[in-house]
Amino acid sequence: MFFMHLYLHIPWCLARCPYCDFNTFAARTWPEEAYADGLLRELDHHLDSTPWNGASLATIYFGGGTPSLFAPATIARLIDGIAARTSLLADAEITLEANPGTVDRQRLAGFRQAGVNRLSVGVQSFDDGRLAWLGRAHDAEAAKVALRAARQAGFDNLSLDLIHAVPGQDRAALLKDLDTALSFEPEHISAYSLTYEQGTPLTRDLAAGRVQRIDEEVEADLFETVRDHLGEHGYPAYEVSNHARAGYASRHNLAYWRGTPYLGLGAGAWSFAPAWPSASKDETSMSARHQVAAADQPTSPAPANNPTPGPSFGKRWRDLNDPRRWIEAVAGQGHAVDSAEVETLSREQAMGETCWLGLRQTSGLARSTFLSRFGEEPEAVFPLLVDLLETGLLETTNDGWCLTRRGLMVADAIFARFQS
Ligand code: SF4
Repeated sequence: MFFMHLYLHIPWCLARCPYCDFNTFAARTWPEEAYADGLLRELDHHLDSTPWNGASLATIYFGGGTPSLFAPATIARLIDGIAARTSLLADAEITLEANPGTVDRQRLAGFRQAGVNRLSVGVQSFDDGRLAWLGRAHDAEAAKVALRAARQAGFDNLSLDLIHAVPGQDRAALLKDLDTALSFEPEHISAYSLTYEQGTPLTRDLAAGRVQRIDEEVEADLFETVRDHLGEHGYPAYEVSNHARAGYASRHNLAYWRGTPYLGLGAGAWSFAPAWPSASKDETSMSARHQVAAADQPTSPAPANNPTPGPSFGKRWRDLNDPRRWIEAVAGQGHAVDSAEVETLSREQAMGETCWLGLRQTSGLARSTFLSRFGEEPEAVFPLLVDLLETGLLETTNDGWCLTRRGLMVADAIFARFQS
């Protein structure tokens, strides 16, 4: 048996947040039926080909955009349609992203009934001033209402997103947000630092001096505060920005970081088909430092047959960004892969990705995974690993390396060195 993961992108939001660089479009109406038809049609197209044919489906993730804008009946039709076409595991994790202000108890109960068993709520903050600064369409009360309604609707696997390092935020303000989040006893918390992505209105404001970035030292202090405070309250980090109670790490996101195959459907969705043919050790066992429960370890080896023979070590591709063109392309040819966005991974790229995606996780980069994929010792290919160890940015685990606290502070710079 081999496994795959499915991502469905719903590209509409009620308003565009100024910091957002996702493929999203502000709208009050959207072609929901035609788009849902397209998602199933595109799934049919890909399921005929390697590595998706015959794979068992371990997770489904409705991301966006704002998937909670779609009617529960549409989500039910999609999940039923996916189940009819694939070998959907009985215990598959099925996540839907929801934004406060777009859901009430009845709507959430509809999603739960449709088969969604994990809800991820885009809270970002419980402070009205900070939410307004972030350009969010909801206030703190709407976030609290959504979280309460999620529990009443029967969701027992609840995640919420928070953003920190917003200008003006200090440690006390952050702790207030974290404590409010903890009071809802979610199973999972994603806590991201505000980032200034290229091309966003926020980054233009920064360049024009209309916005001042938070001081670097304050940002580092806030990052450490998140990690310590959530850790002390039973939510250890299992990735740079992701924290979970034991047994509740996101199986879908772990698949991304562990290099397992995922198929992305919808406008702007990315897919990845690796070339490594079999399970790696770190996909089936826990390192001593890894604090996520055994139930969260993906049971999935990569595809049984090599999807990209020859010198390629995998393929990554993106669908067309524009939803109207996406619908037309799928209706016409069965898929909407943007031919300008198909990338074949070289051995060197795949080795670098295995390293930095491994280091994103608290469990770290597993030597055994690297060896099984590439037949070489990681430090023979990347002497950088030895340098980082000697300078105290990495430490050793039972089977490889993970970032130290100091390394976490400069994680992005370290990851970039494995990509150059
Ligand atoms: S709601 Fe989320 S996806 Fe939509 S614009 Fe805001 S940050 Fe982006």
